[in-house]
Amino acid sequence: MDARIVLLGPPGSGKGTQAERLEDELGFVRLSTGDLLREAVRKQTELGKQAKEFMDKGQLVPNELVIGLMKERIDNMEGGYILDGFPRTVEQADVLESITSIDHAINLDVDDEELVSRLTKRRSCPECNAVFHLLYKPPKTEGVCDRCNGELYQRSDDTEETVRNRLKVYRESTFPLIEFYEKRGVLRNIDGIGDIDDIFQAIKALL
Ligand code: AMP
Repeated sequence: MDARIVLLGPPGSGKGTQAERLEDELGFVRLSTGDLLREAVRKQTELGKQAKEFMDKGQLVPNELVIGLMKERIDNMEGGYILDGFPRTVEQADVLESITSIDHAINLDVDDEELVSRLTKRRSCPECNAVFHLLYKPPKTEGVCDRCNGELYQRSDDTEETVRNRLKVYRESTFPLIEFYEKRGVLRNIDGIGDIDDIFQAIKALL
């Protein structure tokens, strides 16, 4: 599959989970802005140091930092890929449009209370970026990643207070992208509540 896909939807809507399936089962390359930023934070690079203060508060990292991180990577992509967490502002979407054309913008629709519950019970793998949920998708062995045996952790921005702020930021800055992609005729709405596999099948059916 060589489609170029943007995953829209609020934090906790399942973008990472579905991107992982698309990567593992359909051979897409996944480019996650959040994963790249967390790696920069862990390595304490200049970008990581600047990004951390925004991420810890659940705010967006300034456009110029994120665009600098993503533009060249997207430019160098070949074949099908999924953008997970980019674009998150109309300015970022304009930049993306100037470098490539997007085939599908998949919007995962989930209500706020469900998002808070999902995010506060989420556990992530720092090694391969797989995501788990303590109730809906528990790892086979507690605290250990099924995919790579990495040690699972709770993201510092997955606490209730920060999550609520991330949802507010989503509504203000990212929600307008739904209309942006609708106007371009590539918006695909998917109900993001339900069985992970059913949602994956629904995505697969529209590609
Ligand atoms: P995520 O892993 O997609 O939930 O992103 C985690 C955090 O990284 C967000 O709350 C932002 O602080 C930052 N971030 C990720 N993607 C972007 C983006 N496209 N623009 C600005 N900040 C971003």
